[in-house]
Amino acid sequence: MPDRAVRIAIIGAGPSAFYAAAALIKQTDVEVRVDIFDRLFAPYGLVRYGVAPDHPRIKSVAALYEKTALDERVRFFGCVEFGKHLTLDDLRPLYDQVIFATGAQSDRNLNIPGEDLAGSMSATEFVAWYNSHPDYVNLKPNLDVEGVVVVGVGNVAMDVARILAKSYDELKETDIADHALEALKHSKVKNIYVLGRRGPAQAKFTNPEIKEFGHLELADPVVLPAELELDPDSQKAVDGHRLTRQNVEILREYAESGAGEKPRKVHFRFLVSPVEITGDGKVEHVKIERNRLVSTPDGYLNCEGLGEYETLPAGMVLRSVGYRGVPLPGAPYNEKKGTIPNDHGRVLNDDGNQLPGAYVVGWAKRGPTGVIGTNKKDAEETVELMLEDVKNLRRVGQPQDVAEFLKTRDCNPVLFDEWQKMNTAEIERGKPANRPRVKFNTVDDARGR
Ligand code: NAP
Repeated sequence: MPDRAVRIAIIGAGPSAFYAAAALIKQTDVEVRVDIFDRLFAPYGLVRYGVAPDHPRIKSVAALYEKTALDERVRFFGCVEFGKHLTLDDLRPLYDQVIFATGAQSDRNLNIPGEDLAGSMSATEFVAWYNSHPDYVNLKPNLDVEGVVVVGVGNVAMDVARILAKSYDELKETDIADHALEALKHSKVKNIYVLGRRGPAQAKFTNPEIKEFGHLELADPVVLPAELELDPDSQKAVDGHRLTRQNVEILREYAESGAGEKPRKVHFRFLVSPVEITGDGKVEHVKIERNRLVSTPDGYLNCEGLGEYETLPAGMVLRSVGYRGVPLPGAPYNEKKGTIPNDHGRVLNDDGNQLPGAYVVGWAKRGPTGVIGTNKKDAEETVELMLEDVKNLRRVGQPQDVAEFLKTRDCNPVLFDEWQKMNTAEIERGKPANRPRVKFNTVDDARGR
């Protein structure tokens, strides 16, 4: 008979971590104790640092995560960095099982000339900047430019284009970072070019996100009718899929309304790829090539350059072509996919065998796809396998408590009750300006140092 509960460490405190913790404490077959670690002082990962500030409803899911964190079997340790304060070897004697919930912290490159020029950055960085992510508060994107190119037509591209297009009044009652609100207030941006390398039927954005561009105070959406013409394969996709059809219908409405009178324009362009970013030490122009779609044997519609070029004036480029996971010290890594190799959540070594006691959830498991809720089912799948594996664990003796261990690592973690005080303070700071909160940028700010 085991003489104690199963001890589980979760690395990362984003949505997938909290869905895994919730699934672990919901089941009644196995007694568990769950510790969640994050290198940042605040929990909730992309809900706090990724979701757009003007989409507060999506953030309300944090209330569910808080309920999980308040369960007596769950603890949160902020400001604990995996690989620095805790390694996989450190965790082995302290825990029976470890879950990696580290998401996809980096982004993909375009691999075109000029990508390193000042003013060219990833949407991930820009998002982190306007959401007060401690690592990006000093990014200082130059908004003293008239043209911005956003590469990619997923929902992250929609977020960054919309934040750039919105007026101060539209943003001032959100929880956007103060430094971003101030910078955007003085923004000179007039033209935002959002580039889809394939056609409108292949766009990854969802209906509500593209629809929002029809209701902005200072910006009109602009769509070229010729770029909405569909080849037979795309027409089939539109006929067979309601949400794709609605995307195309919304774009057609925009094309029919013309350019409009508002001072800012969001130009949605399709079947174009950036091929070069040019400028004297900084982004000044983006050369784009017109594409056509070609069908591959597996039915995928790929884009192919036609050798016809155009140049867009732009002082900033935001590549929004997908997130990418980074390797974690001591953990296996699939370089091609940017994920931790796994079989339905059981981590696999390079030889294809299971790495005992190691599991993975969320974007680190399946790559950067799906909405926040997608992580619930995904985490439950991993937890089911963990519980299956419990029978192979030897649970004898009391391991050292991690709180004691961390004292030997020069680490002063933020526990959940301290976070709750910080959370209350952020909400209080927001009240005078009718904002949901004013975020602290760093743990020192949050601790009042
Ligand atoms: P995404 O949905 O995968 O979109 C990436 C976009 O980049 C696609 O349009 C893709 O085009 C394009 N792309 C990739 N490589 C490219 C290249 N070399 N050149 C030009 N374009 C390229 O990724 P995401 O926007 O980062 O979003 C990640 C996930 O978060 C998605 O599941 C998204 O729905 C979710 N999310 C949801 C919300 C929300 O619900 N409001 C908000 C933000 C994010 P191809 O299709 O041609 O590859």
